[in-house]
Amino acid sequence: MQDKTIFQRIIDKEIPATILFEDDKVLAFKDVNPVAPCHFLVIPKFPIVNLTEAKPEDEPILGHLLYVASQVAKVQGLSESGYRVVINNGKDANQTVFHLHLHVLGGRDLTWPPG
Ligand code: AMP
Repeated sequence: MQDKTIFQRIIDKEIPATILFEDDKVLAFKDVNPVAPCHFLVIPKFPIVNLTEAKPEDEPILGHLLYVASQVAKVQGLSESGYRVVINNGKDANQTVFHLHLHVLGGRDLTWPPG
């Protein structure tokens, strides 16, 4: 059996995280190594490796992840100033944790294009 990802261990409450929102389907928590004044992650509570591996039946959860990102961003005070939602998908995007996650970044001017 494959080892659990770090995010599965957070879902299973084996390691701590600063949780911002949780329901039966998703979890939002602060990134441990923030690259912006506000940087949190939103993940499904069941493993999807990345967008490439998403199945047709995952469409509702993909929508829910985005909606929760917007609601947590609102609570974090980012709605007026704006924020960026990023999914690093695969090798060229430097995905390091193979459990789908949305990064939500805000609280500073975010340059474009990203690196
Ligand atoms: P990615 O490069 O898109 O796969 O991003 C993985 C993200 O997970 C990075 O921004 C890490 O800082 C973050 N991360 C790794 N371990 C933890 C953890 N234990 N708690 C919170 N965030 C984490």
